[in-house]
Amino acid sequence: MSIAANLSEIKFRIPTGVTLVAVSKTKPVSDLLEAYRAGQRIFGENKIQEMAEKAQQMPSDVEWHMIGHVQTNKVKYMAPFVSLVHGVDSLKLLVEIDKQAKKHHRVQPVLLQMQIAEEETKFGLSEHELLELVESDEFKSLKNIEVKGLMGMATFTDNQQQIKKEFTYLKTQFENLKTHLPDISILSMGMSGDYSLAIECGSNMVRIGSSIFGHR
Ligand SMILES: *Cc1c(COP(=O)(O)O)cnc(C)c1O
Repeated sequence: MSIAANLSEIKFRIPTGVTLVAVSKTKPVSDLLEAYRAGQRIFGENKIQEMAEKAQQMPSDVEWHMIGHVQTNKVKYMAPFVSLVHGVDSLKLLVEIDKQAKKHHRVQPVLLQMQIAEEETKFGLSEHELLELVESDEFKSLKNIEVKGLMGMATFTDNQQQIKKEFTYLKTQFENLKTHLPDISILSMGMSGDYSLAIECGSNMVRIGSSIFGHR
């Protein structure tokens, strides 16, 4: 199937109100252009340098989402143009994003990443760390970032009950966080293998790569 056909199939399956991030990491610009010509405008990358290089070659109305783990020393390379940073999991990183955004006179939209999977390897905040972060005075003093919501990745497993439990947990955290941050609106969860389940559990932003562009 072509990229355009894959995209229309996915759009058919996701309801209005759910935003599709086309995850184009490792794929050539020619593939991204094919998706662009089929109407896709939001692309997700997990390496800052790769995203910056592709951004120079793609039309300027593309929205770039950084979905991977962010290294503090590389924030400056995405600060001028990135639309949404999904994987923010420390105050230190937020402080750097704020600092770089300020240099570009921007308010940077970000998502806080929570650790919802059973595997210890995945990045993200625990419930305790999340609350500690958003209640801290330093967080409240940051003027050039805007927390838009939460992001999480479920355990890589075939066990649907396990995945459902993790997505439901993240949805609950998202609703609870509204007590502290009433304006949050984005819940980023769901990838190629689990996006339908994620949407059932309350996701309104899915990050889909291989089902659009093929295996990496
Ligand atoms: C690669 C990646 C995706 C997309 O994964 P697919 O299984 O190819 O859809 C989604 N989210 C993150 C954080 C990723 O790194």
